[in-house]
Formats: sequence, C-alpha cells, structure tokens
Amino acid sequence: MSLNHQNYLSKKAMDLEPSGIRKFFDVAASMEGVISLGVGEPDFITPWNIREVAIEALQDGYTSYTANAGLLELRQEITAYLQRRFHVEYQAENQVIVTVGASQSLDLAFRAILNPGDEVLVIEPAFVSYASLVTMAGGNPVRIATKEENGFKVTPEQIEASITDKTKAILLCSPNNPTGTCLNKDELTAIASVVEKHDLLVVSDEIYAELAYDQEYTSFAAIPGMYERTILINGFSKGFAMTGWRLGFLTAPSEFISVMIKIYQYTTMCAPYMLQLGAIEALRNSSDQVEKMKQNYWRRRNFTVQSLNKIGLECHTPGGAFYVFPSIKKTGLTSEQFAEGLLHQEKVAVVPGNAFGASGEGYIRCSYATSIDQLQEAMNRIERFLLSLEVKESD
Ligand code: PMP
Repeated sequence: MSLNHQNYLSKKAMDLEPSGIRKFFDVAASMEGVISLGVGEPDFITPWNIREVAIEALQDGYTSYTANAGLLELRQEITAYLQRRFHVEYQAENQVIVTVGASQSLDLAFRAILNPGDEVLVIEPAFVSYASLVTMAGGNPVRIATKEENGFKVTPEQIEASITDKTKAILLCSPNNPTGTCLNKDELTAIASVVEKHDLLVVSDEIYAELAYDQEYTSFAAIPGMYERTILINGFSKGFAMTGWRLGFLTAPSEFISVMIKIYQYTTMCAPYMLQLGAIEALRNSSDQVEKMKQNYWRRRNFTVQSLNKIGLECHTPGGAFYVFPSIKKTGLTSEQFAEGLLHQEKVAVVPGNAFGASGEGYIRCSYATSIDQLQEAMNRIERFLLSLEVKESD
C-alpha cells in the first residue's frame, strides 16, 4: 500500500501559496520566441574582475567553511561600503552577517524577532516572498494596500491605522519590487515618527539601493533615531548583477545579530568561501561598472515609461529598481487575463500584478532589465495586443 504523503506534511508548509511569478514562467519557458519582461534580475553578467577573483579562489583551493558571519575581511568591506554609500556605521565584528542572498537575510530577521502571533506590516504590492517568510517564522503578515494615486507610497496614516498591540515590525522596501517606488528622506522620516511612537522595529529591504535614479538614496537606518530599530538588508544580486551567486548581507544592532548567528549556524553555517572572495572584489573594485549598469537601466526606464504611456498603458515614472507597473484597468481584463492573453497572442511575458498582493490587481509588472531593442519589440507587440482588444470590443 502506498503512503498518503499529504498526511505527513506540516500544515504551515502546505498552506503556503505558490509564487504567482513561477507558475507563469513555467508556461513562458516552454514557448519559443518569447520576450520576457518577467524576470526580476539583471540581464548583465557579473563584471569580469569579480568572476576572475572567484575563479582564482577556486583554483587556489579556497573551498572550506568560513566564520558563520562570513569572512571578517568581507564584513569590513561591507561596513566600509555602507558608510561610504549610505552614511550608516556598523561594526564588522558583531553587526554584520553575510547570508545566502538577501532572501536568507529576510528569513533570519523574521525568525529572530517574531513570537507566535506577532504581526508584521507588509506594504503591498510587495515582493512575493514577504508574507510567506513572516508566516513561516510564526508571525502574521498584515497587508497595507498602497494606491497608484499616491505613487504606491504608504502614508503614515495607513501605517497607524494598521497597528495593533501585536504589531512588532514594519517591512519596508525602497526602491520597491514590483512598483519601483522609491521613498525619499522626508517620507522615511514621517514613517520613522510612527515607528518611534508605537515602539516598532523596521526590517528595511534595501536590495535595490544601488538602483535609485532620481535622488540620493536614503537608507532607513540613517534616519535619526532609527538605527537602533532597523534590521538593514542588502546584497549583491541586483546592483552588482550577481543573482546566481546567492550573496546578501544583513546589519543590525549586535543583540539581534548574536541571536541570528545562532539560527544561521544551525541552518546554513556560512556563505560559500570562494564567492565571498568575489564579493570583496565587488565592493572594492566595481563601482564604475555598477554605475554604468545603473545608467543603462535609467535609459531603459525612461524608454519604457515613455513607450507605455504612448501606446496607452498609463504608468508613473518609478524612482528605482528595474520595474514599471502600468495600469491595465482600461482593458477591462484582470491582470492574469491580460498577462495570459499577451503571452499567448504576442509572446511577451509580464507578471500579473495580483502576484504581489490583492492591491496589485489591475496592473502588470514589466521588468526593463533587457536591451532597448528587445524592449522596443515588446512595446510593438503590446501595442498590437491592445489594438486587438479594441477590435474585439467593437465586434
Ligand atoms: N528583496 C526583493 C525586494 C527582491 O526583489 C529580491 C529578488 N527578487 C530579493 C529581496 C531577494 O534577493 P536575493 O537574490 O539577494 O536573495
């Protein structure tokens, strides 16, 4: 008799929602000639000098474990980088953990701070992992829906209205995935006053900090009074074009770090040695390449926003990351119907906005981390798709 494996699984694990992005891309991957504006990763290959260091590290036999928190030399580079770029000061010895992607930093942060039933405010539309990570850590995600007319920016009033006596933390993400929205210093300061008033923590996901186009980037930890309350998360995936390296980092008050290190040593031990050596090179010697990639994204953003508005898909100009989040409401389709129709009719893959929470319904996420030529072709196809909808309507 065969086992009923369902009976052996944890309820918490079974209740997890599958990512709305993945299921779509499995379909797209099986088709030919698809232009993908779907994936959330750079189209650039990691700069050569970084790759070369990791290759040499392997050749030279750097194949062992490192300290749980990561190589001290890398942690020192991270603290120097955070100081240089974002004016926040951390101690390499006891305030930094090098993790397996920013994803793992998020996981560690929630596991370290949440007791069963604690609430975390998740501002939506949001990165698909957030709510599930909070749930897996035993907490309850409380969703706050931002609105397009506010540029998808959360207001202090919205935060205040969502706070209960169980609220432990707010999860901030600026620049945001999927909207690209970037919060400025004044907006962060206004959020900080609510954080202070209600004695909360902030988990600040700053993975797109290198890709903020229109103003100097402000880290939440740099807002007066917030350093003590912030778990700052960043990494190499986006700005340095290193998604596959799976390297991120987290900085926080040392009391948090010492608890996270305990979790980390049991779950993961450390990030790969040879790749950590590559990351040192990334922080020391690639600011020019990072800047060049950023300029490229900036041009693509401008092109994409202009083109979408021209063909009739309204979208605001996002301040950062590599996403635009146009409204498709005028088509009368749901975001899934739109994305499916576009994929099957014109072979352009985008992500339906509802994958990022209910407030993403009526929008699609288009990643512009692809060449201008591909973007141009995608825009032609989207325009044709829109025209076909109009024809159908008038039939
Ligand atoms: N946070 C956000 C907002 C993201 O978009 C992503 C990747 N899509 C991550 C975290 C995870 O990054 P990493 O590859 O470093 O795990």
